[in-house]
Amino acid sequence: MKSKAELLVVNGRLATLAGFSDRPQRGADFGRLGLVEDGAVALVGDKILAVGPTTQVLDQVDSSAADIIDAGGRLVAPGLVDCHTHVVHHGSREMEYSLRLAGASYIEILKAGGGILSSVQSLREAGWDPLIAQTKKSLRRMLSYGITTVEAKSGYGLDPEHEVMMLEAIRHLNELQPLDLVPTFMGAHAIPDQYRGASDRFVALIIEEMLPRVKDLACFCDVFCEEHVFSLEQSEAILLAAKKLGLQPKLHADELAATGGAQLAAKIGAVSADHLLCADEEGIAALALSETIAVLLPGTSFNLMSRYAPARQMLEAGVAIALSTDYNPGSCPTENIQLIMTLGCLKLGLSPAQVLAAVTINAAHALKRGDIIGSLERGKQGDLVIFDADNEAYLPYHFGVNHTWKVVKSGKIAYDKNNEEVYF
Ligand SMILES: [Zn+2]
Repeated sequence: MKSKAELLVVNGRLATLAGFSDRPQRGADFGRLGLVEDGAVALVGDKILAVGPTTQVLDQVDSSAADIIDAGGRLVAPGLVDCHTHVVHHGSREMEYSLRLAGASYIEILKAGGGILSSVQSLREAGWDPLIAQTKKSLRRMLSYGITTVEAKSGYGLDPEHEVMMLEAIRHLNELQPLDLVPTFMGAHAIPDQYRGASDRFVALIIEEMLPRVKDLACFCDVFCEEHVFSLEQSEAILLAAKKLGLQPKLHADELAATGGAQLAAKIGAVSADHLLCADEEGIAALALSETIAVLLPGTSFNLMSRYAPARQMLEAGVAIALSTDYNPGSCPTENIQLIMTLGCLKLGLSPAQVLAAVTINAAHALKRGDIIGSLERGKQGDLVIFDADNEAYLPYHFGVNHTWKVVKSGKIAYDKNNEEVYF
């Protein structure tokens, strides 16, 4: 007897990204889209039931009671995975942007009340309801760009009470709306004023008080490892303590200087090393030999008018690369992952197929979810996006606009360009 499909997408150009559920794409494999022309995806419940040429899928499944979406030749991809964000935050920092454009230095911006600690203050003052409302609005926008899974970091609380509040907000948002949020504890995001010159005491607070309280609220632990922020030694201490409690390590590494962050990430088996603008040859070699994925964030370089990560060198060395928005109120205020794909092509030198792999299967692996999301394969979560585009190159090429036509999340239509009120 044939299995009953509940939803069927037919006549699409499928970029399945199939065959990499157990490992990210790297080297010559990077950008293998697993294309199926005139393809179909059948879904039942929240899962994918069948994928293949339309005629074959129609033979395999019972589609008599299924809702049918005719993709009309459009590009059908796995739901996009945004694997590095600070989406949970309160307020915005456009005043800082204006100051920066007028030539103010980083120190002058701090003196004017800007910088990350101003976001901390804003979050603490706002409390729960405004935080949920603002994040929900961002998540809706992310969905509209084709994102179905979002990593979300804490790190604007910086004390036990507010770090827990941020992670509880992430848990609540998971119940409130269709996107999947993957929680990361990042108490080591900045050093609060009262710990200036005494950062070891703040590290002790993170390890002794915060980690035990957040261990059941987060999947990952992340640290901003950088000169004048958290040292290599401090980062290692926090991440090893987190690992003992079951939180997998991630690292903001080598963003402003080559400090050995990439090597540390590789050494401790971090799931990802992120930013990496200044990663040197040794760091790249260490990543290439490891399972650690390089999560590159070209939107941040673009917005800060700074250098870009050496993606081509990484690719040639065999490093696995993912791309993400780094959506946050300071260094990268955008939810537009399609624009990030454009920057991945123009500024990192990746191909359209590679940037698509970098925001699907490789990003899924950067969240340890390559076995359930990131590709269109039988048994995987029913997350897919249909772009109003004939092929994968059109997405980054026609830049700055939203190409999403429909998004299916966990087997249900969650976004429709022609009916924006479908889910939220
Ligand atoms: Zn970040």
